[in-house]
Amino acid sequence: MHELSITRSVVDAVTEHAGGSAVRSLTLEIGRLSGVLPDAVRFCFELCAAGTPCEGAQLVIVDTPGRARCRDCAADVELPDQIPLCPCGSANLEITGGQQLKIRQLEIGD
Ligand SMILES: [Zn+2]
Repeated sequence: MHELSITRSVVDAVTEHAGGSAVRSLTLEIGRLSGVLPDAVRFCFELCAAGTPCEGAQLVIVDTPGRARCRDCAADVELPDQIPLCPCGSANLEITGGQQLKIRQLEIGD
C-alpha cells in the first residue's frame, strides 16, 4: 500500500508548514489517474496524523478526473476512470491531467 508513504510525506510537509500550530483542515487534490485511492489515504491519514499537528484535522479530498489529448483526432477528452480511451476509439492518448496529488488548501490555527 503506497498510500501510507504518500500520506506520511503529506503529513510531514503540512507539519513543517504549520510550524507547530494545529492544523484544522487539509484539502488534498487527488487525480483519478494518480493510482492513489482516496479511501486508503483517509485511512492512512488517521495513522500518520496521530501525535502531529495534523491530528484531528478535517481531511477533505477533491477527486479530479483524468484528462488527455487524443493523438489521432486531437480531441481533449475527460477520463472518468482509469481506462484511457477517446470517443473516436483510439487509445493513443497523451495524458494531460489527473495524475497529480497535491495539497490544495490548508487551514491552520487554534
Ligand atoms: Zn480521438
